[in-house]
Amino acid sequence: MSEDATTKKTPGLGGISLNFVPAAGDGSAPVSQSVAAATGESVDARVVIVGSGPAGLTAAIYAARANLAPVVIGGLAGGGQLMITSDVENYPGFPDGIQGPELMGLFRKQAERFGARVVDADVERVDLSRRPFKLWAAGVEYRAQTVIVATGAEAIWLGIESETRLRGRGVSACATCDGFFFRDKEVAVVGGGDSAFEEALFLTRFASKVHLIHRRDQFRCSKILKARAMAHPKVEIHLSRTVEEVLGTEHVEALRLARTDGPGEERLSVQGLFIAIGHRPNSAVFRDWLVTDEKGYLRTDGPTTATDIDGVFVAGDVDDHRYRQAVTAAGEGCRAAIDVERWLEAQESDARAREAASTAAEPRRAAEATTA
Ligand code: NAP
Repeated sequence: MSEDATTKKTPGLGGISLNFVPAAGDGSAPVSQSVAAATGESVDARVVIVGSGPAGLTAAIYAARANLAPVVIGGLAGGGQLMITSDVENYPGFPDGIQGPELMGLFRKQAERFGARVVDADVERVDLSRRPFKLWAAGVEYRAQTVIVATGAEAIWLGIESETRLRGRGVSACATCDGFFFRDKEVAVVGGGDSAFEEALFLTRFASKVHLIHRRDQFRCSKILKARAMAHPKVEIHLSRTVEEVLGTEHVEALRLARTDGPGEERLSVQGLFIAIGHRPNSAVFRDWLVTDEKGYLRTDGPTTATDIDGVFVAGDVDDHRYRQAVTAAGEGCRAAIDVERWLEAQESDARAREAASTAAEPRRAAEATTA
């Protein structure tokens, strides 16, 4: 991706370029800054969308085009997981692929073009006890008739410096996204759960060999996946080992492994490293209000994106631990915006019906009062 004045290098992301730059409303100030400035300490909205990944921004595009004037509280590090993904080759519509940050920049530009206002702030606290719902971010109170929670999830990483440095340069947390780049190469997968086995088996389609590295000598994955992996000629399992360092300057070249069942270190030559040790949904600020599963994923209530709080909807990876793709998150964002639109329409037509009934009853009450 070419770098221009609006593209910044972000430390901590292995030098990956970010291009998640808000479109300037009048060419002078970013729309995101003008929201709080124009409205002071509080903002009223028909829909507030929390999160600016594919789910949040797709919800924003649909809500904006439905004249709902959505406010997106997008997070300080907005854009979601694609901001730390380099080549995206499986998002439909980009036959030559696109860089993750560039794709998210386009999502945002499209949402802003239709009037969505994106605020670069983190939601610190919410009150979903009554409508309007209240959300606080960067000192501003947002009062929302409806809320779409699209805060996503993040892969859990090993937490070693070399893993961060080489992320996007051979280190990945998504085989579906990046496996294709490792045709005829040796790769390693870390983890002992269903994700690690699924990723390892998926990678056998491309890689010449897949090394599965697990810290214990027992797996927690399902028996069937374990049996498939163990029987696969391309899969080699390394038990009781941890990855201490990812070796390589520009790209992954090898791993330094330590044994957990005794002393000793090993070097394993691979060109790719897939971390599959779980995901963490970004649901913390909503956990006191919405139903979650044991891992913190939000739960929807029925076949739509509605939750058990009337007027609150969810979309994307914060409730999806199965598919976790940009395109599925975008699809959910679309569903959530349509659910919000219908919900508001139903509320407004109920309110109109109540008002009409009360207007019709007024002359009768007046006549009764005169007779009495
Ligand atoms: P998981 O079940 O929590 O497994 C995480 C694995 O990573 C564990 O083996 C764990 O080791 C290991 N691990 C955790 N932290 C580590 C670290 N710092 N260093 C090295 N290894 C570490 O996560 P998951 O596999 O992502 O699955 C999440 C949920 O989704 C599960 O309920 C799973 O069944 C489900 N899922 C289902 C499917 C499917 O049905 N096809 C596919 C994917 C996921 P220990 O075992 O030593 O703790």
